[in-house]
Amino acid sequence: MIICKKPRELQDLLEKKKIGQDEIGFVPTMGALHAGHLSLVDAARQNKIVVCSIFVNPTQFNDPEDFKKYPIILEKDILMLEGAGCDVLFIPSVEDIYPKGTSDLAHYDLGFLETVLEGKFRPGHFQGVCLVMGRLLEIVSPGSLYLGQKDYQQCMVIKKLIELIGSKDKIKVNICPTLREEDGLAMSSRNTRLLPADRIKAATISKALRYIKENLKAGDTKKIKDEAKEMLLQKGFLIDYVEIANANTLELVENWDGKQKVVALAAAFLNNVRLIDNMVINP
Ligand code: AMP
Repeated sequence: MIICKKPRELQDLLEKKKIGQDEIGFVPTMGALHAGHLSLVDAARQNKIVVCSIFVNPTQFNDPEDFKKYPIILEKDILMLEGAGCDVLFIPSVEDIYPKGTSDLAHYDLGFLETVLEGKFRPGHFQGVCLVMGRLLEIVSPGSLYLGQKDYQQCMVIKKLIELIGSKDKIKVNICPTLREEDGLAMSSRNTRLLPADRIKAATISKALRYIKENLKAGDTKKIKDEAKEMLLQKGFLIDYVEIANANTLELVENWDGKQKVVALAAAFLNNVRLIDNMVINP
């Protein structure tokens, strides 16, 4: 695996190897890798070359403490990526991604998507996601992009960004399934920050979503959402939201017709560690 730290280094390498845009599979990450990330790398191996990036993006952290505490374990990440068959690892600096600094940056019109769920509870977060993704896509110029369903709304935001920058015909977005621990907890870099007792409780978030998936009936969705919330409250979670939304638009569904494809989504804290998860419900 070749490691590039500078955008020019990466671009020169791809040019020298005569790699075209449609031959590049790209997996953007913030590092502290786990099997979920590696499943994306594995999916990207159907391309001639797999490029992975590790960059902890300061502009997407609405909570500065969360940014400070974000785990960084680069040496282990490098070994994991090598083992997974990644060809090129791109590790840019903040200056490489934001050459003009991190204030006074572009604004993306994400419309409704930015007003609900993660958009509502993490103001500015998706603007930061768009800034870093816009820049990474400009540097790496991939034909295929690999994202995890774990970040359901982020996938929709990045698809919208690709439309906004006029790259819809050039970049194929591949959404990969969420990898889970044995007890159902969605793998996440933040899980390492859970206290041992909280790690056991953390699986309740996926259990609550599974409860919705298995018991949702046509009609008012309030009761089942309240039941799922109660499961979380009993384990000491501080809930941001438990919602059921249209799987294509993320409009909240208060009254389900029993036919529409929906997604159950949750975000909740265990002692300052914020966890998110979702499950698609295909009637
Ligand atoms: P992150 O490093 O958290 O920014 O994640 C990088 C990519 O990995 C994103 O596209 C995530 O959605 C994806 N990802 C994170 N956790 C998982 C998981 N448990 N299973 C599959 N993909 C994941």
